[in-house]
Amino acid sequence: RTPPGKPLRVRDLRKEFGGLTAVDGVSFDIEEGSLTGLIGPNGAGKSTTFDCITGVHRPTGGSVHLRDEEITGLRPHRIANRGLVRTFQITRELTEMTVLENMLLAPRGQRGESLWRSVLPGARGGVRTQERELRDRAWETLERFEIDHLAEEYAGNLSGGQRKLLEMARALLTDPDVVLLDEPLAGVNPTLERKLLAQVHELREEGYTFLLVEHDMDVIMEHCERVIVMHQGRVLADDDPETVRADERVIDAYLGA
Ligand code: ADP
Ligand code: MG
Repeated sequence: RTPPGKPLRVRDLRKEFGGLTAVDGVSFDIEEGSLTGLIGPNGAGKSTTFDCITGVHRPTGGSVHLRDEEITGLRPHRIANRGLVRTFQITRELTEMTVLENMLLAPRGQRGESLWRSVLPGARGGVRTQERELRDRAWETLERFEIDHLAEEYAGNLSGGQRKLLEMARALLTDPDVVLLDEPLAGVNPTLERKLLAQVHELREEGYTFLLVEHDMDVIMEHCERVIVMHQGRVLADDDPETVRADERVIDAYLGA
C-alpha cells in the first residue's frame, strides 16, 4: 500500500509574521513508517511549522513535498486529500453530535475515496452498501480506540482524554498516509495515554507515518526513534533520542528558555 518517495520532505521552510520570524529555514525528512518527535521550548516554532506543512499558514519561503509531490501553500483540505492529516480539536458544533455522528462526518481523503469508489453505484451495491461500509469502518475504528461504548454519547460529554481518542479516530477514518499530532496527550490520563501510544505503534507497523509534537520529553524519548529539536525557529538537533538528550546545545536551549 506504500506509495513511492519520502512521506514528507521539508526544505528551508520560513514563516514571518510581520517583523517576527517564527520559522527560520527549517529542513527535515520524515522516514517511511517512522514515529518522529518534534520538540523545543515554548515559542520555538513547532506549531507554526505544523501549520505551514498542513496549509493552515502559507509559508513565506521554502517547500514541502509529500511523496515527491509539492504541496507548499495548498489549502488544508487539498493537502488532507493527498493523505497528510493532522488531528483537529473537536469544534463546538461537533460537541453537539454523538461520537458516531462525528465519525460519519469525518472528511474522506483520496485514498479513502478510491476505496469508496469501489462500492459506489455503477460499481456494485449502491449507496446503501457505501453507507454500510462507512458505518462498519467507523465502528471498527471506534473499537480500535476502545470508545465504541461511547458511540451514542454526545462528544461534548467526553472527558478530555476520550476526546483526544475521538480526534485520532476521526483522523484515521480519512485513510491518511502521514499523520501529524500536535500535543495529542495534553490532558490525557496515564491509562488513555498508554492506549493512544499503543495505537500509534500499531498503526506504524501497518505503514502509517507519524510526526509528533509533544511537551512531555519522557514520552518523546521513550517512543520516538528520532527527535527533531527546534529552537528560535531553527532545527537545533535531528538525531536519535540518546544523542539528542546528550546534546549540549539542546540542554542549553531548554535551560535558557
Ligand atoms: P511553539 O509551537 O514551538 O510553542 P509557535 O510556532 O506557536 O511556537 O510560535 C513561534 C513564534 O511565532 C512565537 O514567537 C509566537 O509568538 C509567534 N507566532 C505564532 N503564531 C503567530 C501569529 N499567528 N501571529 C504572530 N506571531 C505568531
Ligand atoms: Mg505550539
